[in-house]
Amino acid sequence: MARLFVAPERLTGQTVTLDGEDHRYLTRVLRLAVGHEVEIFDGGGIQIDGRIAAVGARATEVALGQRRQVPLPRVFITLLQAVPRGDRMDWIVQKATELGVGRIVPALTSRSVARPAAAGRPTRWRTIAEEAARQSGRADVPVIDAPLPLAEALVLPVAPDARRLMLFEGVRDCPLRGALTGHERDVLLLVGPEGGFAPDEVTAARVAGFGPVGLGARILRVETAALVALTLVQAAVGALD
Ligand code: SAH
Repeated sequence: MARLFVAPERLTGQTVTLDGEDHRYLTRVLRLAVGHEVEIFDGGGIQIDGRIAAVGARATEVALGQRRQVPLPRVFITLLQAVPRGDRMDWIVQKATELGVGRIVPALTSRSVARPAAAGRPTRWRTIAEEAARQSGRADVPVIDAPLPLAEALVLPVAPDARRLMLFEGVRDCPLRGALTGHERDVLLLVGPEGGFAPDEVTAARVAGFGPVGLGARILRVETAALVALTLVQAAVGALD
């Protein structure tokens, strides 16, 4: 079923008129017509049964039916992921979305891949995230930022009580699992690239409030570490029950 985000303030009436990209997606990409069902959600946990009422040259009108509250994520997890080589990031974006990540910030570190083709990658990742959100039945789609130098990613404005955790393979005395209370509302997970973090990056992360945590003695691949960390946070808050 087609699923679309529409801002809450546009959903106050009996119908909503969709133009631009949404109109193109419905009528050109999905080739939907009058009578087809559309699932609309406002990103804040409200989901609405829609039905296409009219299709114009530039806009589609959707009649709004039953509304329901869909539980929002218990914890908002931001994954600060040093961009790995090849299409590994595609895979991380897809799996992280299935695991309920709230936001992915691709970080550029001294050992991560050279600046990816700025235009293409984030757009591609956003499409992957939308698909994975739709497939996994999420009421929201994770935000995928444009790649940022690590120094900027470390100081992104976040909730004041956010837990900042840096996944570091050298850490044995502070396992991630033990660092979680299960009552977190906002968690930032920083995961390095294949080559790991440079010493100055570890220092910068600590200064920015990121506590180094470990995932055991084995050295995990980037994509494995990202997903294991997400899984542990979600398990701790009961989001996988
Ligand atoms: N420097 C490593 C490779 C880095 S693995 C090496 O010696 O080969 C890529 C990233 O995954 C790391 O930067 C870290 O964020 C995470 N990671 C991998 N294994 C981990 C572990 N056991 N504990 C915590 N983080 C880990």
